[in-house]
Amino acid sequence: MSEAVSLAELIAVDHLLTEEEKLVAETVRRFVRERYLPRAAELFAKEQFPTDLIPEMAEMGLLGASLKGYGCAGMSPTAYGLALEELEYGDSGLRSFASVQGSLAMFPIHKFGSEAQKERWLPGMAKGEIIGCFGLTEPDAGSDPGSMKTRAKKDGKDWVLNGTKMWITSSPVAKVAVVWAKTREDDPKSIRGFLVERGMKGFETPTVHGKMSLRASPTGEIVLSDVRVPEENMLPNVEGLRGPLSCLTQARFGISFGALGAARACFDSVLAYSKERIVFGKPIASKQLIQKKLSDMAIEIAKGKIMGVHFARLKEQRDLLPAQVSLCKKNNVGIALEIARTARSILAGNGILLEYPVIRHMLNLESVYTYEGTDEVHTLILGQSLTGVSAF
Ligand SMILES: Cc1cc2nc3c(=O)[nH]c(=O)nc-3n(C[C@H](O)[C@H](O)[C@H](O)COP(=O)(O)OP(=O)(O)OC[C@H]3O[C@@H](n4cnc5c(N)ncnc54)[C@H](O)[C@@H]3O)c2cc1C
Repeated sequence: MSEAVSLAELIAVDHLLTEEEKLVAETVRRFVRERYLPRAAELFAKEQFPTDLIPEMAEMGLLGASLKGYGCAGMSPTAYGLALEELEYGDSGLRSFASVQGSLAMFPIHKFGSEAQKERWLPGMAKGEIIGCFGLTEPDAGSDPGSMKTRAKKDGKDWVLNGTKMWITSSPVAKVAVVWAKTREDDPKSIRGFLVERGMKGFETPTVHGKMSLRASPTGEIVLSDVRVPEENMLPNVEGLRGPLSCLTQARFGISFGALGAARACFDSVLAYSKERIVFGKPIASKQLIQKKLSDMAIEIAKGKIMGVHFARLKEQRDLLPAQVSLCKKNNVGIALEIARTARSILAGNGILLEYPVIRHMLNLESVYTYEGTDEVHTLILGQSLTGVSAF
């Protein structure tokens, strides 16, 4: 037997990180190991989100982590990415909560909101006292949000909203929903963001039950029936699809790190298993086919991580191009899903048990592959960027 080198030592990305970034990663890693992993399988099985952990996540600065001011932590893009990676080592549902709260609910208020809106909502959201959600997708408008049907009509000083949003992360528990609606019939340029509050008449958020993926994340609809929203709840500083799409660009960047956490969790699980599982008289770790699977996983995780850190560093200097974010999201989520499936094959029969994290991550990653732009949509964004021709 020769001495083994850990995956982290092999990738050796630590030398690219500041002490602060390493500390963020280590703190979130410990939180996930001590507070989430012991309950991960049960939460998934029972379709429960651990709301009791929200104050601790807030304490670590994980809600609106990359935003500045208003009680937010103002983390660097790299620290933010590493934090999400560690959260998703626990579960994609846990990471989804942080992504939606920070990148999809707080970010649009921070970027496009009035000063009064920022002061009213952001400090409470950073503390986790106010949960937010992001309503863009509709039953008949997912990949093509410009075809949304939700309408906002002006009536005196108010807006009246009608429509249905589907697949909305955290909507059943949200106190405020950032809802995107057209203010003119069939005109995507007229899309505006509205802060719809729990308690407003005609606002309902029925839970979507029976998901076999992201079970620890509450997903719901947003049903809007003549909801009267005051003018001061409209985001004043953005109009058109640019509003929701710029939020998605933020979230997608974080997800490209997050997915690596799920991949690492699968890798760690099967690496340990392969040393213990005896087949044909020897641990399966000694079999070439198993070593090839482990090597391929390690290579893809290494490539994904190095790419993530590279783009995070670039993001510290300037906004990333949407195609750069697509490249990262598509690659890292794709490889994570492939790694989860391969890991499941190494666990074989045991791989379908929730006792191991692999099947849970595999099922979760099916959603991550689809939300925040499907794998196909990111292919088309990249294709358009490379050729200058839209194939949508
Ligand atoms: C668990 C979960 C949580 C989610 N959370 C949120 C949320 O918080 N907020 C929110 O607004 N949305 C959320 N979504 C919605 C998600 O973003 C959409 O499901 C996604 O955008 C895809 O839309 P769709 O499901 O309607 O698929 P469709 O758009 O109907 O796509 C169907 C298929 O066609 C493919 N396709 C589409 N266009 C093309 C094309 N031009 N060429 C080739 N193929 C194409 C797609 O890739 C896909 O394979 C969530 C989804 C899930 C599953």
